Amino acid sequence: MRIADRIMLIGSGETGTMLSHALDCNMYLIDCHTEFVMIDAGSGVEPERIVRNIESAGVDMKKVSHLLLTHAHGDHAAGAAFFRDAFGMRVVCPQEAKAWLENADEDKLSIGPAKRAGIYPEHFRFPPCTVDDAVGDNDKLNIGDAVFQVIETPGHSRGHVSYLWIDGGTVRLFSGDSVFSGGKISLQNIWDCSIQAYAQTVAKLHALRVDQLFPGHGPFLLRESWKHIEKAHMAFERLALPANI
Ligand SMILES: [Zn+2]
Repeated sequence: MRIADRIMLIGSGETGTMLSHALDCNMYLIDCHTEFVMIDAGSGVEPERIVRNIESAGVDMKKVSHLLLTHAHGDHAAGAAFFRDAFGMRVVCPQEAKAWLENADEDKLSIGPAKRAGIYPEHFRFPPCTVDDAVGDNDKLNIGDAVFQVIETPGHSRGHVSYLWIDGGTVRLFSGDSVFSGGKISLQNIWDCSIQAYAQTVAKLHALRVDQLFPGHGPFLLRESWKHIEKAHMAFERLALPANI
């Protein structure tokens, strides 16, 4: 589903539009002219639905060259092994999450607590996935005619990045689980969630003056996204907490 110039929504679960399996985060496909980039991989449950969404938009799966992961939680990254194995995509992930993804480390990725909380079913599996490129703050990814800047955005979890793409003067941010429409955030009772890291992340994202926001859950925003990010930033500046999704 085309949602903006050169951007498609290709998957989304019950926190979004139900375009794919209920457990999936929002997934985006970016047209970099000579090739395509996918942002996040979904839960790995029925990933063929995502393939169908891409192909029905007229895109050849062989042209999807890169899979950029914002972090390695199950709803964003458990599908990565499927896309790498089936289509040879290069998997890009935050440095700290590389070993967690390659070892399918259920403790570091909080899969156990999420199962106990009923977020994932008991039979949910996280297949390990080889990482081709581990990225850190300010790394630049040149893919086709697009340049993606990596921004480390811990808070929701460690090993979390966002991808900034300035396209023809429009500041576009793929924010994963760092900041959402309405200035919401995603605090969870897991080992690597940090309020203070979160406040610094939101301050950093606020300074980018983002036009278009494509988050991992909920609605995406096509203009004045900075106003939403500002709402979260102002809450942290008052030493309070923004609303949680
Ligand atoms: Zn997450």
